[in-house]
Amino acid sequence: MLVSEQKPVEEILRYLDGENNIFLVGCKGCAEGFESGGEPQVMEMKQKLEAEGKTVIGFTLIDMVCNQSLSRMKLIPYQQVLDGTNALLCLTCGSGVQSLSSVVNKLVYPGCNTISSVGGHAEWKEAERCMECGDCVLAYTGGICPIARCSKSMSNGPCGGSENKQCEVNPGIDCAWHLIVERLTKLGRLDKLEEVIPPKNWGVSLTGGPPRY
Ligand code: SF4
Ligand code: SF4
Repeated sequence: MLVSEQKPVEEILRYLDGENNIFLVGCKGCAEGFESGGEPQVMEMKQKLEAEGKTVIGFTLIDMVCNQSLSRMKLIPYQQVLDGTNALLCLTCGSGVQSLSSVVNKLVYPGCNTISSVGGHAEWKEAERCMECGDCVLAYTGGICPIARCSKSMSNGPCGGSENKQCEVNPGIDCAWHLIVERLTKLGRLDKLEEVIPPKNWGVSLTGGPPRY
């Protein structure tokens, strides 16, 4: 169970600048329960984006977007529609955005901030992907979370210490920023790294700062 709340539409529009065709994804799991990404919120977001001149080329709701296999399967009928866009807007927790990002070769933008896990986990059992920081930066990092996956939780990386793609703090894990650069290179969107992510507001994080996994 991950608690999320929608980001201000102004923030969403800012990072969707230049993306004209958008595919919307909502979640019938936690995001529906917390009214951040259920069907009413998806329809509302569609209207808001269209009012700003964006084309919403399609939308869907998935039972639990954080379940990779389910997301992959549920997107199969939309393959043709998805060919018409490079951008998905995902109204879920950070784990959902990362799950979706791992099954499409597109940029997946977060429509929500994840504010708490209330002691639970997403359906991505083998790894903790979101630390509920309350101020999601996945729009800039190709759908890979630097807060949960970088040992220093660096919003602007890499730190320069990685060797052979491994983290200098924990050589047993991939350097998150190496993964981010690799992902954005694959998507042809290294321009995303030109924007410096401002200092995070940790005041909205109920986890009290970055623990280490
Ligand atoms: S930036 Fe990472 S920790 Fe913060 S809400 Fe997004 S996925 Fe979760
Ligand atoms: S090596 Fe990579 S993952 Fe490790 S602290 Fe540096 S930037 Fe973060």
